[in-house]
Amino acid sequence: NYSLKQLQAIDARHHLHPFTDHKELRDAGSRMIVRADGPYVYDSEGNQLLDGMAGLWCVAVGYGRKELAEVAYDQMLELPYYNSFFKCSTPTPVLLAQKLAELAPKSVNQVFFGSSGSESNDTALRLVRHFWALEGKPEKNIVISRRDAYHGSTVAGVSLGGMKHMHGQLGGAIPNIVHVMPPYAFELAEPGESDEAFGLRAAKAVEDAIIEAGPENVAAFIGEPVMGAGGVKIPPKIYWTEIQRICRKHDVLLMLDEVITGYGRTGEWFAAQTYGIEPDTITTAKALTSGYLPLSALLVGDRIAATLVDKGGEFYHGYTYSGHPVACAVGLKNLEIIEREGLVGRVRDDTGPYFEQQLKERISGHPLVGETRAIGLMGAIEIVRDKATRERFKPAGSAAVVIRDHAIANGLMLRATGDTMILSPPLIWTRETIDLACDRILKALDLALVDLQG
Ligand code: PLP
Repeated sequence: NYSLKQLQAIDARHHLHPFTDHKELRDAGSRMIVRADGPYVYDSEGNQLLDGMAGLWCVAVGYGRKELAEVAYDQMLELPYYNSFFKCSTPTPVLLAQKLAELAPKSVNQVFFGSSGSESNDTALRLVRHFWALEGKPEKNIVISRRDAYHGSTVAGVSLGGMKHMHGQLGGAIPNIVHVMPPYAFELAEPGESDEAFGLRAAKAVEDAIIEAGPENVAAFIGEPVMGAGGVKIPPKIYWTEIQRICRKHDVLLMLDEVITGYGRTGEWFAAQTYGIEPDTITTAKALTSGYLPLSALLVGDRIAATLVDKGGEFYHGYTYSGHPVACAVGLKNLEIIEREGLVGRVRDDTGPYFEQQLKERISGHPLVGETRAIGLMGAIEIVRDKATRERFKPAGSAAVVIRDHAIANGLMLRATGDTMILSPPLIWTRETIDLACDRILKALDLALVDLQG
């Protein structure tokens, strides 16, 4: 048994963390999360934290689900691994693919498995370019994306993503990816511009980019239905309707990255259904297994699948763990739990609207808050220095970190991204859990206000 101090010292000496300033980590020491149950995680010092982020947007059914452990245990004994290369298969990915086709929009019926959202986006990028090559149009390979998008950390993920600081460390992005404005009304809407007018303008930026590149050169548009890591940026509803119209008009494929929004977060199984659109690809991961094991699924629409199957020959692409039998068994059981407990409908009809209303009624009036917004169980709190002018604190992001630290010290795992606090709780949250989270957010805001004014 190691003490916290011992573990921190070993951690700092040997363990490189994702998205971490290692000098800060060495100085401060990491918080060791050692167990979890339901909506709570616990650190090594016995502190209980309400998990406002569902881990990293993934633990949809909450922690401590024995059924998921049991199904993994049974599958490991029965068949821990076999691949699905070279015309082999195992039963659980077959059954999971069937289930995903049942849940997905009706024109989406094929599934390619991987282990992470980044891998899945990598696959999607290769697949859409491969599709146009098979269609005899290899020059149609530009992909339009948005600034502030997050599509993962592989070279393809970062290139598709629109995070400037990540591009800065890439040493050269994959060519033929173009970034346009995100649908972020809080910062980008003109004074007096209606939601609908802003949504149309943001969609027009995509059409302008297609026309500038030449539609004959554009393979696809990719976007998160609701931008997650970029700050829970919720587009006006018309944005997606308009994007779909534009993509169809110019024969550009529509790729949705639903790594965060997939499996109930916006109150439907997929945000494509929330927004009423039929994409050509849907990237998913995270809540597919509620994070209990790594698994991603790229859902592929009928148009691409037909070409791939009929004209494709072999697609030289795959991962050792594509269709991992244990991960897929856990995915099947996880979806069964979500269905059995009616979590998607609950988010749509009850907890989602309540969450949005409570953020608005209890949080948005705070002097540090410029706006709250939510869709399903995905929410954002914009932090400002001046409510009227929406001036931010300097340096950028500094105030949000103070609020985050107070929230954690007061029992709520809350995340700061830039000047935005974000929430993406497990789908098992009830009205009572939402009330408790709002109490803790208010406390953190009040404590931060004292610090920031001092
Ligand atoms: N796409 C989106 C929208 C994400 O939020 C993420 C991760 O947060 C990814 C892709 C990458 O997924 P992963 O971290 O599993 O590679």
